[in-house]
Amino acid sequence: MSVPEPAGGEEVKQAKEVEDAEKYSFMATVTKAPKKQIQFADDMQEFTKFPTKTGRRSLSRSISQSSTDSYSSAASYTDSSDDEVSPREKQQINSKGSSNFCVKNIKQAEFGRREIEIAEQDMSALISLRKRAQGEKPLAGAKIVGCTHITAQTAVLIETLCALGAQCRWSACNIYSTQNEVAAALAEAGVAVFAWKGESEDDFWWCIDRCVNVDGWQANMILDDGGDLTHWVYKKYPNVFKKIRGIVEESVTGVHRLYQLSKAGKLCVPAMNVNDSVTKQKFDNLYCCRESILDGLKRTTDVMFGGKQVVVCGYGEVGKGCCAALKALGAIVYVTEIDPICALQACMDGFRVVKLSEVIRQVDVVITCTGNKNVVTREHLDRMKNSCIVCNMGHSNTEIDVTSLRTPELTWERVRSQVDHVIWPDGKRVVLLAEGRLLNLSCSTVPTFVLSITATTQALALIELYNAPEGRYKQDVYLLPKKMDEYVASLHLPSFDAHLTELTDDQAKYLGLNKNGPFKPNYYRY
Ligand code: NAD
Repeated sequence: MSVPEPAGGEEVKQAKEVEDAEKYSFMATVTKAPKKQIQFADDMQEFTKFPTKTGRRSLSRSISQSSTDSYSSAASYTDSSDDEVSPREKQQINSKGSSNFCVKNIKQAEFGRREIEIAEQDMSALISLRKRAQGEKPLAGAKIVGCTHITAQTAVLIETLCALGAQCRWSACNIYSTQNEVAAALAEAGVAVFAWKGESEDDFWWCIDRCVNVDGWQANMILDDGGDLTHWVYKKYPNVFKKIRGIVEESVTGVHRLYQLSKAGKLCVPAMNVNDSVTKQKFDNLYCCRESILDGLKRTTDVMFGGKQVVVCGYGEVGKGCCAALKALGAIVYVTEIDPICALQACMDGFRVVKLSEVIRQVDVVITCTGNKNVVTREHLDRMKNSCIVCNMGHSNTEIDVTSLRTPELTWERVRSQVDHVIWPDGKRVVLLAEGRLLNLSCSTVPTFVLSITATTQALALIELYNAPEGRYKQDVYLLPKKMDEYVASLHLPSFDAHLTELTDDQAKYLGLNKNGPFKPNYYRY
């Protein structure tokens, strides 16, 4: 049986399974004490081109897919729009006298610290990593340059990396997603952070450059979300790669770029594709959407779901999450699918599988989650009943043909932020959410716990690449070894007081498994 390909059909090199847990450098140190066993190709851009603002906004899976003008979830709580002076023009120092940062306002640090502390409460896996590695410092000597969203959750990751021995310099992967107070708190704590909410295109690259181009400091690890930082280093400072031990990339687009480089034989360091690790995929797609679909719908419309008729287009991971949540609230849920296997799963789960045209006149809510285009057409929209709510949970805003609604006979009325009423000549209104962009990322928040899983995966990937002996990873793109995926999950189990059953020697022999994992083959679908 062959190992399945990841999303996007790219060739993946899975790190050779190492039977002996001790061979995983970092886990060898952190697993000693306890006995526990321990993420769309639409906006692919050529690596040679700078992404446009719009392109970059939709690069990464975690949060930035929401277009920047609809970026509400992780936005700064402290609105500093009154302060028009660019942070680049300001002279700021933290309380220790350092000016090795550029943030909106260092005085917001205290507020940012509180946000970070709140996030820490739901990111106990990272906190436990800090504790477990105490004294070991698996990242001692690591100089990590990072480009991710700068939110309270990322701050917990950055501070974990520092606690594990790394020096970090950080910029934002999205011009709108930085929580200014969090950036200030990081700067106050001594992290060289260059980011603020509302950067210009020029600021964006300037911040990245300030992280990479430093006298007397050269990065040896990259943590990227979207591939812009990696791209910048390739274009501007290719020599830096001589010292880089590895790249960890979290987004679909960034991963795609790495595979392109790899195919072209231009990838000169090992890279870890964190996006396609099992824990990230499952939690981001299934569980995160199961929670946030309702949040997004409720915040925008105050709709009551009991007895409502809802059609969910696509019964993949995201669709399954949405359907489960809606069913639990008493909605009558229909599913549309093109794939007989997913359709059969929907049937087994108790959903009626229909064609959209069969139910479009009667449903109260239409949700797309196919990753496809033109799933809801103008014809469907014409036939919807009055007050039907239409929204999208898929990656890009291509699923609902919103463009077809921009015609003279239809009137658009913005009734709330992210909520438009599109009014037909006979008075019928269709309620369009987030203009067809990702509902949950545009209109609600992403649970910290989900981000914790991604952040833990990133931290472990960095540790693994940094500590791996020569030859374990070549100049290629790798998935996180299964065992480390299992370890990420195990670090999150104590939050639930979950107790794992340990294999007996006899059972392990019977199943042909190592008692400490990995417990499943790479092709296993959870
Ligand atoms: P998936 O491939 O598991 O599921 C998509 C399903 O849609 C498939 O089963 C496919 O057969 C079906 N499909 C395709 N075209 C269809 C059509 N015309 N009509 C009906 N069904 C159709 O993918 P997934 O993991 O469920 O992700 C779906 C989309 O959601 C992707 O675009 C993904 O990037 C995005 N996503 C969103 C979030 C979020 O937070 N909102 C999280 C993860 C992924």
